[in-house]
Amino acid sequence: MGLSYLSTRGGETGVTSSQAILKGLAQDGGLFMPTEIPKLDVPLKELAGLSYQETAYRVMRLFLTDFTEDELRSCIARAYDEKFDTEEIAPLAKVEGEYFLELYHGSTIAFKDMALSILPHLMTAAARKNHVDHEIVILTATSGDTGKAAMAGFADVPGTKIIVFYPKGGVSKVQELQMRTQKGDNTSVVAIHGNFDDAQSGVKRLFADKELEKELAAAGYQFSSANSINIGRLVPQVVYYVYAYAKLLENQEIEEGEEINVTVPTGNFGNILAAYFAKAMGLPIKTLICASNENKVLYDFFATGTYDRNREFVLTSSPSMDILISSNLERLIYLSAGRDTEATKELMKELSGQGAYTVTDEMREFLSDFAGGFATEDEDAEEIRRIFEDTGYLVDTHTGVAAAVYRQYRQRTGDETKTVIASTASPFKFSHSVMEAIKGREAVEGKDEFEVVDALSSLSGIPVPKAVEEIRTAPIRHNMECGVHEMKDTVKGILRI
Ligand SMILES: *Cc1c(COP(=O)(O)O)cnc(C)c1O
Repeated sequence: MGLSYLSTRGGETGVTSSQAILKGLAQDGGLFMPTEIPKLDVPLKELAGLSYQETAYRVMRLFLTDFTEDELRSCIARAYDEKFDTEEIAPLAKVEGEYFLELYHGSTIAFKDMALSILPHLMTAAARKNHVDHEIVILTATSGDTGKAAMAGFADVPGTKIIVFYPKGGVSKVQELQMRTQKGDNTSVVAIHGNFDDAQSGVKRLFADKELEKELAAAGYQFSSANSINIGRLVPQVVYYVYAYAKLLENQEIEEGEEINVTVPTGNFGNILAAYFAKAMGLPIKTLICASNENKVLYDFFATGTYDRNREFVLTSSPSMDILISSNLERLIYLSAGRDTEATKELMKELSGQGAYTVTDEMREFLSDFAGGFATEDEDAEEIRRIFEDTGYLVDTHTGVAAAVYRQYRQRTGDETKTVIASTASPFKFSHSVMEAIKGREAVEGKDEFEVVDALSSLSGIPVPKAVEEIRTAPIRHNMECGVHEMKDTVKGILRI
């Protein structure tokens, strides 16, 4: 029997996985969840030695039950191919006794590629399955990495258009250039005069706009989402945690059944939620260490049980984590409330009204698998420098936050459990900050982005990734900007409706 999906706020039930992927967000503003989290149906030692693609099939088939084997295997084969610069797809690097799971070997050199290289294939397969004849318009808010990875996936995919909103001034130079040079006649990029939360809330408002939905339908369009609220992004992310565990087994770093910890640099709570799903499927994970930068709303939440977004938004050198409303947390809240949709709806109403909510003691107990931590800008830079000087291994600013938080955690708790640290971006995507962390301000002052990229390459001996080479000379193709309240008109303008 197929797994069915429902909204965390109770407004929609009995939705198939392909419908949930097509819709993105539920009509009531909730997020789709499977009615149960399936269990891994093979012993872990049988997964050791399998390719990434085969592991992906074994995991994804348990969630996406209305896709046929052929459909899933074909989506997987087209997603995880030579676009990745290593056959392993997600290699595990052992550094000082920790394991960095490198999730940045895809075409846009950030972990978003892990899910966004497959989402367009899942979505077009889902559209065929459900006899959708509208053109699908992907609306996406990005803190820097999702936008590029989504466009790379959807560019020139027949039957789709994609519109990306990013916060002007809130992304790195490389991230901005990557987006503004994007090819594909069906892609549009808009800089908004606001921060990521403004972009994300604006997109959610457009999704909930019934008037707009009618106008779109009349013109032959329907919206969907490539943001991490889409279950079609969450499910592919579960795969690499299972794969990492199987790799540790294969390499005899752990014994079968041995528990590991996982540390994840967190923004919208998608990546770490996928790790939680893997744990719920039966993967032996003990503690999920949730690492934040100075926007430490999640750290405070795990420490106090109160989620409070009423605080200053800090622009940091790990921009993909500059988020005060972590959308995917809603899924965990729903689970921690014992799948009570009314309670979830109430808390989310408080979040959009007062900007804060407090969970019950029972819910906090449920959340005790998570440990929060945060790193300041200085701590992040210091960790990047220390790792490089001690080992020659180079990490980006987001991974630096995770590594710093993990070290604090280990010192604080004495927990020596083997730990996988999610490494979410290539250091070349954030060359300025990484170079400054290692060599000081003088090494970057007055230099342009590509001079720093080259200097980082000679310092580390790592060749400049193709994704960065490509934008060195690529022409700018996108110049649109808009205010936070002009997003609707901008979308209508792009679609000519
Ligand atoms: C998106 C992103 C994150 C945060 O991941 P979430 O799933 O939003 O928590 C961390 N690091 C990098 C480099 C990212 O692109």
